[in-house]
Amino acid sequence: MAQFRFKALEEVLNRQPVEVAREDNLTSDYFGMLVFDRPKMKKYLSREAYKTVVDAIENGTTIDRKMADQVAQGMKSWALENGATHVTHWFHPLTDGTAEKHDAFIEFTSSGGVIEAFPGKLLAQQEPDASSFPSGGIRQTFEARGYTAWDPSSPAFIIGTTLTIPTIFISYTGEALDYKTPLLRALHAVDKAATAVCQYFDKNVTGVKANLGWEQEYFLIDEALYMARPDLVLTGRTLMGHASSKDQQLDDHYFNSIPSRVSKYMIELENEAYKLGIPIKTRHNEVAPNQFEFAPIFEEVNLANDHNQMLMDLMKKVARRHKFRVLFHEKPFAGINGSGKHNNWSLSTNTGVNLYSPGKNPKSNLQFLTFVINTLKAVYDNQDLLRASILTAANSHRMGANEAPPSILSVFLGTEVSKMLDLMEEAVVDRKMTPDEKTALKLNIGRIPEIILDSTDRNRTSPFAFTGNRFEYRAVGSSANNASAMIVLNCIVAQQLKDFKAEVDAIIESGIKKDEAIFQVLKKLIIDSKPIRFNGNGYSQEWVEEAARRGLTNVKSVPEALSAYLREENVKMFNENGIFDKAELEGRVEVEYEKFVMKIQIEARVLGDLAINHIVPTAVKYQTVLLENVKNLKEVFSNEEFSALAKGRIDIIKEISGHITAIKSKVNEMVDARKKANVIEDIVEKAEVYDTKVFPFLDEIRYHIDKLELIVDNEIWPLPKYRELLFVR
Ligand code: ADP
Ligand code: MG
Repeated sequence: MAQFRFKALEEVLNRQPVEVAREDNLTSDYFGMLVFDRPKMKKYLSREAYKTVVDAIENGTTIDRKMADQVAQGMKSWALENGATHVTHWFHPLTDGTAEKHDAFIEFTSSGGVIEAFPGKLLAQQEPDASSFPSGGIRQTFEARGYTAWDPSSPAFIIGTTLTIPTIFISYTGEALDYKTPLLRALHAVDKAATAVCQYFDKNVTGVKANLGWEQEYFLIDEALYMARPDLVLTGRTLMGHASSKDQQLDDHYFNSIPSRVSKYMIELENEAYKLGIPIKTRHNEVAPNQFEFAPIFEEVNLANDHNQMLMDLMKKVARRHKFRVLFHEKPFAGINGSGKHNNWSLSTNTGVNLYSPGKNPKSNLQFLTFVINTLKAVYDNQDLLRASILTAANSHRMGANEAPPSILSVFLGTEVSKMLDLMEEAVVDRKMTPDEKTALKLNIGRIPEIILDSTDRNRTSPFAFTGNRFEYRAVGSSANNASAMIVLNCIVAQQLKDFKAEVDAIIESGIKKDEAIFQVLKKLIIDSKPIRFNGNGYSQEWVEEAARRGLTNVKSVPEALSAYLREENVKMFNENGIFDKAELEGRVEVEYEKFVMKIQIEARVLGDLAINHIVPTAVKYQTVLLENVKNLKEVFSNEEFSALAKGRIDIIKEISGHITAIKSKVNEMVDARKKANVIEDIVEKAEVYDTKVFPFLDEIRYHIDKLELIVDNEIWPLPKYRELLFVR
């Protein structure tokens, strides 16, 4: 079939949508059917065991061995009834994705038969042979013992035939080796700090939880085309490929009707997700061709993050059934939008109040403003940490390297909240307020609800935006574990709230009334954090310049960004909030540096190979055809006629030669640069050298390959092109 350059293209065009068995029942009938949630716990556990687990979930109390045995029995009964044969501890190591190791339920009986067994000790704790998970040197391979421990705050679930228990993963000496452990610690810190501040406003508040609603963006690529792109298979992104003549400039993909194969995929995925209790709410096309998004109803951060990781796994599995591959890479295609994972975040009290929702009276609005302003200050003071928590080799392509958004942190508040802050800045003075002044200010503060409901200005270019009842941290990468950003965000807000409370208390002690003390400190915070507020276009060049004038940082290099973690004041903050001790933090940062080096190393190798064994031979082949043609012309035509006729062809031959020579020499230089970098012992230095000496070759080599793609005969180009990857379906 000559019209298809590839067997793969033919395959794609002949694909039929995979029929999805629709659930007959209402979603609410099967939602959570594979989760050991509270109703099931109530049914399968003794009243005492049920109470113990609920207490552990709500108050973080521990569950003793005897009780763990009871819970395990109940869980086992439920799991066996639902077809489970195995059990696994499931955790979030510092790699991409999650890890699990399955054990069958069987055990020998004394008479030599087998029974289904699941003792409490297996529920509570396990020891995976985990020597090959990254730990940044904390756990040397010779003492490779880490263990996983049950996290009762996230319910167990069944995947296939495996009962899956969410766990933390720590070393024998107690250091966190995963994302979940420090996340739980950070959530505890923000709970304590926020509850203390809430006490100024409402004595009934005894707990504050953090909420997360993630918006997961991703690309779907047909399996056959994906397989024909070794760079996608090995690195998750295209290392070469000229832009398609048409991509997203017509904005015709965003919110358009979903293609039928894709829609079947989404329906099956949602069915599966609902059974696992993942509350997917929206699905739609994104800006770039073949780009889509899922978003859930928000949940408590730890649970929401488990659900995000579960969904990412599920998305990959279901995609295979539909002959798709999911790309979670932040920038799989140059020149068009990349994928992020907006983290919608808020705090809410045990009394049911969202602290980022304006209230119904001046008092609750002052509480609202207190939390908004403290968050603003936390982001301002910790721009570098927030950036360090999201910047990776992959995400750096999204953040400022070539295309928007830039790597500058700023906060969008919208005009109405901004006005309110300006008002507080002017109204409150550092002297005793007159009763009239106080009344006026309170009146103004009381007006917030209506104005926020009115305001529709939503700024899509802000990396950290207030969107009516929450903040949205938008710089998080699509492939990331949200915990990385959530650990930092919750930690810095906890720290800021503690500082705030200490200051307010000190002023109260000097004899000033509580309200006024709060006004005073808030005013100071508003003034101090002013440079971080920006309501304009965050993607514009003017903003880059303006941000520099304001002294905001703009760090594009991953190694440089990561160094923020180990600044003295940050080590101290993590430590004081009980999130990381110094060794843990150092280990973690080392893992990040290692990941960075490895990603660039792999990309460099893949690009080098493809350039030399796919691209150069193809270019030579086409060049030979042209040379043959020129020779033939020479035989047929007179010298004069020949010169005129062959000129164009000879120019192309020269152009091809130029690109081939450049590719060959640059690949050689890149290999040399890598060799030099690889012998560097110090991981930070090695990462810096990879960043500055190896990484630039990727773009330089690509430039020549992409030029060749435009020149060489389409029939023999060895890789699916952007226009095929993005538009053939
Ligand atoms: P948009 O694309 O307009 O930003 P979406 O509806 O796609 O909005 O996603 C918004 C996400 O924010 C959803 O996951 C939603 O549940 C979540 N969300 C809404 N309110 C809150 C809140 N108070 N705290 C945390 N997340 C929230
Ligand atoms: Mg959003």
